[in-house]
Order: sequence, then C-alpha cells, then structure tokens
Amino acid sequence: MAENSVDFQGVLAEIQDEIDPFFGQGKNAGYIPALSDVPGDKFGMAVHTVEGEEFLIGDAQDDFSIQSISKLFTLMQVLGFDDIDIWSRVGREPSGTAFNSLVQLEYEKGIPRNPFINAGAIVVTDILASRSADASRRIGDYYRMLSGNLSNRVDEEVALSEQDHGYRNAALANLMRSFDNIQTPIPDLLDIYFRQCALTTSCADLAKAALPLACGGYSPIAQKQVLSTRDTKRINALLLTCGLYDAVGSFAYKVGLPAKSGVGGGIVAVLPNKFSVAVWSPELDSYGNSLVGSKALELFTTKTDLSIF
Ligand code: GLN
Repeated sequence: MAENSVDFQGVLAEIQDEIDPFFGQGKNAGYIPALSDVPGDKFGMAVHTVEGEEFLIGDAQDDFSIQSISKLFTLMQVLGFDDIDIWSRVGREPSGTAFNSLVQLEYEKGIPRNPFINAGAIVVTDILASRSADASRRIGDYYRMLSGNLSNRVDEEVALSEQDHGYRNAALANLMRSFDNIQTPIPDLLDIYFRQCALTTSCADLAKAALPLACGGYSPIAQKQVLSTRDTKRINALLLTCGLYDAVGSFAYKVGLPAKSGVGGGIVAVLPNKFSVAVWSPELDSYGNSLVGSKALELFTTKTDLSIF
C-alpha cells in the first residue's frame, strides 16, 4: 500500500477492534506505586503525519506518565547544545540487560551502554543539570515547546512515589559517581530525573513532540529546527538499536520503527519523512514495555505495510 493511500483512521479502528485479547496478559509497573493503580484497560493511539494530519483513537487524549520516554527528549535537548561531548560519558550500544540493571555498569567502569537505559539517561540529565540552575523547569519547557501543550506538567504524586522507591536509580547514580561520571550532587540529580519521568503527556502530545525525528530535526509544532539533520538520523539509529531495552531486537523484527518506551505504558515511534505514532496502554511485558502497545504497533506496521525496512 503506498503511504498516500493509507487510511490511517481506518487502520487505527481495526487495531482497536483486534487488540482486545491482549489485555490482562501484562502488568502495570508495580515498583512505582503511583503507576500500579492506573486502569489496565486503557488504550490510546495517535498518528501525526509530516503533512500535519492527525489521527486519534481510544484514550489518545488521556494523560499518562511519560517515564522513560523522557530520555529521548533530554537527549534531544542536550544534543541541541553546541560544544557538547556526551559520547565520552555514555555509549551507543544496546545493553542486552534490563533498563535498571547495575551489573554491566560495574564491569564497564561507570560508562552506561546507551542514553536510553536508566544509567545513561541519568548521565544525560547530569549534563543538562551542570549547564542549568533550573534543569527541571528547562526539561519541562522543552517538552511543552515540542508538544505545544502547556498542560504537560510534573505529576507530583508520581515524582514522590519514585523518590520514595528509587533505590536502584540511587544505586546507579552512586556507582557512576564512584567512577567520576556524575557531577551534580546525587539527591539533586535524582530529583531532576524523577521529575522528568513524572511528566504527564498523552498520545496526541507525544506524537507531536516526536515529529522532529520524522522531519529532519524540524518541529512543525514549535515551527523551528530543534536538531541538526545529522543528529536526527543519529538519534533514530539509537532508538532502533537501544530504544526498547533488552527487547529491542524483537521489536525491530516485529514493528520495524525507531521507538522509545516507558513504564507508564507509552511507546512513541517514527517513520522518517512520513509520520510519528504514539500508543499507550499501561500493562507491561516482562521487559517493561507496554504489551498491548507493542502489539498495536506491530499491527500498525503490518496493516499499513510501512516500516523503515
Ligand atoms: N522512572 C522510571 C525509572 O527510572 C523509568 C523507567 C522506564 O520507564 N523504563 O525506573
């Protein structure tokens, strides 16, 4: 099917009909208590084309917790600075381990495998924090600029819930500090990191915020270039190889799009020069990715016959 003949709204409606049997197979993120109470049967999806069309289905306008998808936007924000050297402090390889694993970090002397696992994202946030007295507000402002929605705010209950249960993240930050790969005082850094993860968004907002990755670095929402075309290609490569933790190979096999997931149940993906697509459903598979969301994206690229391959 050529993309200009795709009936995106019809495809979304078919997916909503076919996705039913997959509910109840996954589980909400339990380690952040504030996320465990979100109704598991929620499902929304949004597509935004580079031409400016938007297609929504289900709970596409409901707010949810952005969680690790924020790692994509902090990376974009840091790459937008001139004179930045992040790659001596974070790698660009898939980790093959869980998003919050400590094991590899010890072997690899405090250099996280990539910016999309927790350790790597904490380093990226550290870089932002060392350049800004008010990093938390800057991160929120950047996301609101990309989504065009001023109501994308920090959910204080989720931020506190993470703060109270963030033992592994504290361990990751301390381990990296012991290797001199963290500069910001750790309590301050974790506070900024938890607050970026606790931003609320919807599928509709996320699809808009990710559009620069489909538009060579240009944000049609903010109406400005937010990334160079070169960095845009590089981020898409990293998303394809590292965006879904240790499930990234099967996701590329089944879906075939650069994407980023979060334990709030969101996943955002792009097809360069064509569209961005966001899905949300809170029940997660054993890797911490939305189970229904992954299936919905698989159905989406199968039905439209559109992927990067
Ligand atoms: N805030 C979560 C954490 O740091 C994000 C994890 C995720 O979405 N995979 O554990």
